[in-house]
Amino acid sequence: MKFFFILLVVLIGLWFWKQRQKKPSKPSTPAKKQDAHVIMLKCAVCGVHVPDTDALAGQRGAYCSAEHRRQAEGL
Ligand SMILES: [Zn+2]
Repeated sequence: MKFFFILLVVLIGLWFWKQRQKKPSKPSTPAKKQDAHVIMLKCAVCGVHVPDTDALAGQRGAYCSAEHRRQAEGL
């Protein structure tokens, strides 16, 4: 009898786990909304705007590439 009880608990646990996995990711948040949070930085050399995640930080500002950072700061 104890075995069946454990089996039942395991089956219920698996069912809950499956239900959780079925849940689709919230489509209510559009991608555009997330883009608004991206901070755009202007390259100090060419003036191109790059997301702060892709920008390279230098002593005189942000740069779009290592090449431009080297040009501006002479590193
Ligand atoms: Zn640049």
